[in-house]
Amino acid sequence: MTYLAIPISARDVAHARRQVARAVDGGAETLELRTDYLTDLSVDRVRELVADVRSAAGASVPVIVTCRDRAEGGALDYPESLRMEVLAAAVAAGADFIDCEYANFRRADNERRIRTALSASSKARLILSAHDFAGPFPDLKRLHREILRACPEAVPKLVYKARHINDCFDAFDLLHGGGDGIVLCMGQAGLISRVLARKLGGLVTFASIDAQAATAPGQVTAAQLKGLYRHDDIDERTELFGVIADPVAHSLSPAIHNACFADAQVNGLYLPLHVEGGRGLLYDFFDNVLRRPWLGFRGFSVTIPHKHGALEYVRVQNGFIEPLAAQIGAANTVLIGRDGRLSVYNTDYAGALDAITAGMGIERRDLRDVPVAVVGAGGVSRAIVAGLSDAGARIKIYNRTLERAELLATDFGCRFAPLDDLPRLDAKLVVNCTSIGMHPHVDRSPVPAEALRPEQTVFDTVYNPARTLLLKQAREAGAKTIDGIAMFVNQAAAQFKLFTNQPANTNLMRTVVLDSLAQQ
Ligand code: NAP
Repeated sequence: MTYLAIPISARDVAHARRQVARAVDGGAETLELRTDYLTDLSVDRVRELVADVRSAAGASVPVIVTCRDRAEGGALDYPESLRMEVLAAAVAAGADFIDCEYANFRRADNERRIRTALSASSKARLILSAHDFAGPFPDLKRLHREILRACPEAVPKLVYKARHINDCFDAFDLLHGGGDGIVLCMGQAGLISRVLARKLGGLVTFASIDAQAATAPGQVTAAQLKGLYRHDDIDERTELFGVIADPVAHSLSPAIHNACFADAQVNGLYLPLHVEGGRGLLYDFFDNVLRRPWLGFRGFSVTIPHKHGALEYVRVQNGFIEPLAAQIGAANTVLIGRDGRLSVYNTDYAGALDAITAGMGIERRDLRDVPVAVVGAGGVSRAIVAGLSDAGARIKIYNRTLERAELLATDFGCRFAPLDDLPRLDAKLVVNCTSIGMHPHVDRSPVPAEALRPEQTVFDTVYNPARTLLLKQAREAGAKTIDGIAMFVNQAAAQFKLFTNQPANTNLMRTVVLDSLAQQ
């Protein structure tokens, strides 16, 4: 059992009561009373609070009482003697756990005070915690052993800042080693340690009632943990997936894939994997995952800036490379087989081609000899040009930087032109692969309105907003239109199929994308 603990970080008892009510409503499985947040801290106040929480939450919700030392992230600066008295009083008042900093417990008088209090209780347990807000501990395993040697019946709690997602793997190793410890990483790079605590059997993971009430950097909200990250459905057999990107915070992929896992009743969890830095750190991340098959990672979506690096990693590992992904020079999907063998694919081109053919009401083979104007010569353009050229379309690439258009055109046997030629474009299909028109610059269009005609189909890969100025003007001109969400959903659906061997619920995916965009 991994308890979802919600910290109560209130200034006074009345505020604490309101927070407790919200935490219980929000699904708290444990409440952590952070008494160091109280402005009028006293032993009596803490007794009152523990009794209050007990009656509000019921006996089935364990209560942790913490009075954090300022040196380890405490909110207000209270003397050590008062903090130890508070913990002792909490035991007498019926707390299930008290959390004392290991560094303070090592002082003989503190240890004696805490042990005396605990010896009078049949149920209260001690959490011995250590925190490093700057980075990983010099030797995590040794610190863990030291804590257990000092007090074998204690729950060791080790919390450190992950400076990079690769710093989380030591925490996973420790949890995988067994015992009922708490090992978590702080900061955005540590987010996955909070989500994976349940899979790896950590005793507690912490989530806040809302973003303002977070008591540690990188803490997610209980609603995110339970909703977006499927906390209630995770167990030790849950298979892991995720999107490797930098930045990753605004990615819609966790929302759509997790919604589809739940919909298809797949025991899977999809994580945002913020892999910062260059090729070396990406390779370290893959190495870390492959060295730990017990983590259960089965596949990744890959996006900016790692699409090329992911492909090269799989090449170095002698994995399978989908031929068109090799030609594009970029992969957006990596699979890890049960034997550890890697394979990479590019679902961007298939996602785009499926959106185009569905929008035009044709089959892929009908694209042969169709004149297409592709605007843009970046990564998305490269995938779409590869797919369209594979289908036999006659492509002309328009780009601001003419040399990039020329390079892409040479690779796929197309023609190219500067953006100034767009008013004279002569194509049945027009595809925008630039970021022009994307939020917040929604009043811009890459193609002059006078170049749009009723016999054309216009596909805008921009999906935020779904209805771009280009698509509005195309509709006014009587052309057919295809929005970027269609491509986004199709490429994600193709990934879901590769991940699970099951078709994705694309209607659900589209709804989740639209809802997520509306909330941003
Ligand atoms: P990229 O590699 O950075 O390429 C950007 C392209 O846009 C380049 O051709 C660039 O021209 C052009 N561009 C950017 N700003 C411009 C401006 N002010 N004026 C003229 N041209 C400009 O980006 P990407 O990865 O290909 O992504 C392009 C767009 O695709 C994104 O912005 C996004 O909206 C969309 N997208 C859609 C999906 C989907 O599933 N629907 C997925 C990913 C991305 P230069 O070569 O001259 O710089």
